[in-house]
Amino acid sequence: MALEFFGKTSEKFPIPKTMKAWVLGDPDNLSLIDKQVEMPNKAEVLVKIDAVAICATDLDVISHGPPAMIEGGLPFNKNFTPGHEYMGTVVALGPAVDEFEIGDRVTVEIHSGCGQCKRCRMGMYTSCHNYGLNYGEVNKGHRANGFTTDGGFKQYAVNNINTLIKVPDDMSDEEATLVVTAGTTMYGLTELGGLIAGESVVVIGPGPIGLLGVAVAKALGAGPVILIGTRDSRLEIGKKLGADHTLNVKNEANVIQAVKDIVGTKGTDYVVECAGTEQALNDAIMMTNRGGKICLAAFPHKPISINIPHMVINNIYMYGIRGEGKSATHRAIEFMKQKRFDASLVHTHTFNLDELPKALKYARERIDNAIKIVIKPWS
Ligand SMILES: [Zn+2]
Ligand SMILES: [Zn+2]
Repeated sequence: MALEFFGKTSEKFPIPKTMKAWVLGDPDNLSLIDKQVEMPNKAEVLVKIDAVAICATDLDVISHGPPAMIEGGLPFNKNFTPGHEYMGTVVALGPAVDEFEIGDRVTVEIHSGCGQCKRCRMGMYTSCHNYGLNYGEVNKGHRANGFTTDGGFKQYAVNNINTLIKVPDDMSDEEATLVVTAGTTMYGLTELGGLIAGESVVVIGPGPIGLLGVAVAKALGAGPVILIGTRDSRLEIGKKLGADHTLNVKNEANVIQAVKDIVGTKGTDYVVECAGTEQALNDAIMMTNRGGKICLAAFPHKPISINIPHMVINNIYMYGIRGEGKSATHRAIEFMKQKRFDASLVHTHTFNLDELPKALKYARERIDNAIKIVIKPWS
């Protein structure tokens, strides 16, 4: 039954009643169905999704469930659509929305907080207290696309206006899907606080967040910027994005010493840790200088053991960073608009909506050196 709609649409963008959408059944079981198109309410718009990127976290959600949580439980067999890194065109406005116009190109942050709790009031909407221990409370206005509410492996999505960032005409759809990725490391580096030009940053793990972490650190004036990984092809991309030095741990007998050979015996000022392994975390601790700071940007899959005594003795800080809070995406897209780095170097493949299973296989198995894979729901 169609509900009455009090917002605004345009005949330039006719909106169908149903759309193509992937939904998650049992683990690793996705099917393409016809799903009803939601219409936007107060402070919301309807976005026609033009591009959605696949993230490693999507692979976790589709195979295992967490960190997605739908109706207080695992996301399986709940008509849930995964996917959280998307951009598109505004095609309908909720009542009284005048912040955006129909036809605007936008990229979309994952989290919309409730706007009422203590953390949301501080701008920390990725840590909304109504993204509770169990699930996001939709009735309080909380959404996390592809985690607690429907995501982007489909053709249309309703989003809160606070989650939208306008995309300039000369930025491709594919590049615009990377704004949230760049925004995540921007959030990390700015939350650590104090990074000034000429301070050293080590990034461990050249996945999309790590690679764009290199780019953002360099654009913020860090130097030297050192990227650590295990694949030369990815380290090469890191160099193009601004790494002054790269270290392949397979070729280094002692990666901590190798970092100190570059930055000096005291160690580095900052580490952005994007690998999430016990080894990488302990390496991060041992290469950080006294009073230095470590950003935890990866999700380890289990509790791990780290050298706390060394951290305490040396006054090393460690920050858990979730997502793209405090509108860091707006700062990240400014760097991208100014062409301070070319985020599109991280994009490697594009597939159509009906090819999602194949695209996920490419992402999971890193076929053909895949890094960021983008799905175009309308081609
Ligand atoms: Zn992601
Ligand atoms: Zn909140």
